[in-house]
Amino acid sequence: MCLENDQIKMCVSDTRGLLVYLENKRKSEQIRVREEDFGIEGVDRALNSQSAKLKSIKKLSPEVIEVAYGDATGQVALAAIYSLGRNDSFLQKKLRIQTNCSFGWKRVTVGIFDFAPSNLTLIKYPHQKTVTYFGRSNQGGVFLGLEKPFDSSSLESKRVTLGYAPSLKVKAYDSIDSEPLYLGVYSRSSGEREEPGLPLRSESEAMVEMTSRLLGPPRHGFAPIACGWWCEMEHFSYKDTASLQADLRSIDFVRDLGIDRISDNHPWGGETDRMNALRETEGYVPGPLVSKKYQYEKQQNVKVTFWPTMNNTHPWWPERGKPFASNKREWLMFPEKRTLEGEMLSGKKFKETVQGNCVANRPFLDWVNRLSLDGMKTGFFRSWGMDGDFFGGGGIVTPVNCPRGDHDHLPGDSTYASERALAELIKNVREHYPDVYVNVARPPEDLGVFSQRNVDAVFTIDEFAEPTPLPGIKEQPVNMMLGDKVRKWSRVRVHHHFFPHYLDQPQVFVGPKGMAELGRDWPSGSIDYLLLSAFSSSPNQIYYLPTKSGMPDKDKAEIRAWMEWGRKNERYLLVRKDLPDWPAAGKVDGNAHVIDDSGLVFLFNPNPEKLTGHFRLDKESIGLTKGDGFQISQSYPVSDTKREFSFGQEVSWDVPSSAAVVLKITPLNKQK
Ligand SMILES: [Zn+2]
Repeated sequence: MCLENDQIKMCVSDTRGLLVYLENKRKSEQIRVREEDFGIEGVDRALNSQSAKLKSIKKLSPEVIEVAYGDATGQVALAAIYSLGRNDSFLQKKLRIQTNCSFGWKRVTVGIFDFAPSNLTLIKYPHQKTVTYFGRSNQGGVFLGLEKPFDSSSLESKRVTLGYAPSLKVKAYDSIDSEPLYLGVYSRSSGEREEPGLPLRSESEAMVEMTSRLLGPPRHGFAPIACGWWCEMEHFSYKDTASLQADLRSIDFVRDLGIDRISDNHPWGGETDRMNALRETEGYVPGPLVSKKYQYEKQQNVKVTFWPTMNNTHPWWPERGKPFASNKREWLMFPEKRTLEGEMLSGKKFKETVQGNCVANRPFLDWVNRLSLDGMKTGFFRSWGMDGDFFGGGGIVTPVNCPRGDHDHLPGDSTYASERALAELIKNVREHYPDVYVNVARPPEDLGVFSQRNVDAVFTIDEFAEPTPLPGIKEQPVNMMLGDKVRKWSRVRVHHHFFPHYLDQPQVFVGPKGMAELGRDWPSGSIDYLLLSAFSSSPNQIYYLPTKSGMPDKDKAEIRAWMEWGRKNERYLLVRKDLPDWPAAGKVDGNAHVIDDSGLVFLFNPNPEKLTGHFRLDKESIGLTKGDGFQISQSYPVSDTKREFSFGQEVSWDVPSSAAVVLKITPLNKQK
């Protein structure tokens, strides 16, 4: 039985229900692959394609095949579900399990694929906590992996095994799905270079096309947000009306810049003692002082992000933050504080001594879910955020090991159960408040692209705003160094981590003076370069602002004007195609934002001498799909230069030293 669309065809065998045929229809190329096995393993039972009895193969719809299996005793029902969307170049497969008595689910193998008969070269590519396998030929190839972090997949010669350890308790008669695997096909584009340890450009593009479909299109347009924590606002509890009043002036400052979103400056409004004292039977209501702040923000039409936490009342205030309802010992992960060490993707190492609740524990998860919705019910918040780690601390994202036997996981490995709990927490908000802007940091930030379901924006990787120059370039203004970093990290997010660009949330400006050792004096100059770097990277940006130490009025006016520019050009910022060169000494880098036959091209020159940027007026170079003749004009800095080109022609454009240029592409018959 087969599934097929314009791009891909797949068939499963009628006798075993395993994949036996795969075709890349864009290249009319059959990919020689054989699915060998799948299976589940419990504490006291196991079932795989050898021991399972095939019961039926059905086409549930033109896009879905279900293969049903059972075991000899009739205790286990297992289904393999293959799906292929009408316009997708990838298929998905998951397993569905139901048993007539409860069981401890230790392992699952969603599929084993042997590419030995093919001419493909197989490559294992880890990204963040996830892994993708690429099978390359000269013309194209395949990509496959599991849609989850911390899997236990492997590659041996040309055989890819896709599985993981659920380590979950499953109740009798509960129907439970595995996480899906993906298997897609792609075509290689011309002129792409192989780089050791990295995906090809065409592989990245195919992956991002897939993740864009899986995660959905952008929902909120241009969304600049001030990070309350990094804007010199209160990190802990408001002591009095004066400390609150000072933060209201910070909100005025943000509003004055034309930024209409702000994330709360402290978790649970900073009411850490109140949160510590909350009992299991109680709900969350913000206290009177912090409610005044939320009311003020609402009056000023500033959209505030509610900042609840998962497992500790204030993970960044170790002296005061505690696990929730700490008298309930059965909700804790460890009976006492532990010291953990970790490393961020940006290379920064850190250590934390923490204690938290185990979120993979149904009564606690239901409670913390309710607290999160209690906050949203107040009507103060148009956005919701999450940060922290699974241990009750600020940011160690590693496998989780909760020793308790009375939680939802088997004693020991609680990683997958924790991932599920977090995904539920996020999904719950989206389901109850579909219009809310979901803005996350850790753990999803470090887990990878498949942990961004129901998310609108995810924090960048390099969050500390340290101005470090590109190798080989000296004496740049601070805001230029930050702009180069923004573009570099956003390219990492898209090309190496496969995030749709519109989920990325680049961080803008240095940490302000009020952040003590992490802060700096406000740098004037090159604001245009930094803001254009951020806008060209993503419609979402997160701002660190000196709301108390201040900035010159002319800088404020400049930022305000750029916010208007961003709103006006919103539709173009929702699409992006990067030119091949990355930000580097001796190069002009840039990206295109084209819809059909018109759009913008941003060019950046971080170098101290004038250089020329190049692109071609076609689909492969800039995403141009229509039109014959075009006018190209320089819309920033405004210039009278206008030139005409036809489809497919190469454009060369001079970019002054240390500058950003925005070009406008207009079809000749429409230009005014
Ligand atoms: Zn636990």
